[in-house]
Amino acid sequence: MKEITILGSTGSIGVNTLDVISNHQDKFNIKALTANKNLDVLTEQCFKYHPEYAVMADDASASKLEEKLKRKAPDTSVLAGIDGLVKVAELDAVDYVMAAIVGAAGLLPTLAAAKAGKRVLLANKEALVMSGKLFMDTITKSNAELIPIDSEHNAIFQCIDDAKNQGGDTIRSIMLTASGGPFLKTPIEELSSKTPEQACKHPKWKMGRKISVDSATMMNKGLEVIEASWLFNVQPDSIHIVIHPQSIIHSLVEYRDGSVLAQLGNPDMRIPISFGLAWPDRIETNVQRLDLFDIAQFDFKKPENDRFPCLKFARQAIEQGGTSSAILNAANEVAVSEFLNKKLKFTDIAKVIESVMSDVTQNDADSLEKVLNDDSLARKRATEIIRNINA
Ligand code: NAD
Ligand code: MG
Repeated sequence: MKEITILGSTGSIGVNTLDVISNHQDKFNIKALTANKNLDVLTEQCFKYHPEYAVMADDASASKLEEKLKRKAPDTSVLAGIDGLVKVAELDAVDYVMAAIVGAAGLLPTLAAAKAGKRVLLANKEALVMSGKLFMDTITKSNAELIPIDSEHNAIFQCIDDAKNQGGDTIRSIMLTASGGPFLKTPIEELSSKTPEQACKHPKWKMGRKISVDSATMMNKGLEVIEASWLFNVQPDSIHIVIHPQSIIHSLVEYRDGSVLAQLGNPDMRIPISFGLAWPDRIETNVQRLDLFDIAQFDFKKPENDRFPCLKFARQAIEQGGTSSAILNAANEVAVSEFLNKKLKFTDIAKVIESVMSDVTQNDADSLEKVLNDDSLARKRATEIIRNINA
């Protein structure tokens, strides 16, 4: 029996993780569930799974949760804030930690899980993008297992078992697939008037709002290039982006002998989640089986630079190194949040990121303090820039 903490259990990845686990309760037990403010969903999850701990990042929500659990789930201890999140990520009794908080808020608990030598199931790509080498060094030092849950990286993980056996430089390139998001064919001059509802209407995946907007700008793919270069120790210029609107091929690995391996499946996050939970075994899921005749056709296309300027900024960030990726990520988080609050135009997201990257000086990313400091400077600068845009 594996004991599991789910960081971000009320989100899209969290709910899918619980769905997979609920069909395998002989193998996995929920030790802790966490959320930010989503009281109703976390309460229901506690009633259903009776975790030992439930954590809410928001203090006021935690007090309300405690009240609600008193009668129906008295065995669940309620904790609050970042200390609570870190505590349930590093508990001795926990084997696996699903890192599914969105954004920089997930960095400290995810790092804590890594430091404590857990199996880290990494959905929270922003944590790795921000902390890069620090994160990977922590995993190595503590002998933790790191299994990517992001579908592309999970696909690559599945395709590189051979490379691990062969060692060295057998990989020639990685092809990261992308759906292209909801605005792949929208006339570029119409992009500036796109609303949060339109941006969140992803053609293939049902996801949280932040990553949905990232998919619309393709910053998601930019973050994923950075994520892949750290996870698989591959130079960013050997990582290519391929738009594949059917979202059936989840990524490909090209080897030096000309072989190209890919992982395919219907676009359903329960596949990479179950893979991460069961690895090196495989378990049953309720995912609809792939019917190639039904799909009939695969299309591939290069991303257009003028439609997706965020891709260029992400490549710049990784080239510059140091805290640049943390700065990029912070600027993006602020801009996306203001777009979702209807305080910023869709096309201004990229403008804010570009300005923040040129205004905030990057430093070596050799300590967590430096990363967090530049994250916070970038957030401040992004907020000022947005205020100026709106003035
Ligand atoms: P979501 O918005 O649906 O859920 C986010 C979760 O994080 C919720 O449980 C929320 O309560 C919690 N949270 C938010 N802010 C928090 C804070 N300040 N402190 C503590 N907890 C907080 O997001 P999602 O779509 O599930 O994505 C989660 C992560 O997984 C993201 O990093 C995303 O990029 C990544 N990811 C998601 C998908 C997907 O299909 N949804 C695919 C690949 C990668
Ligand atoms: Mg992805």
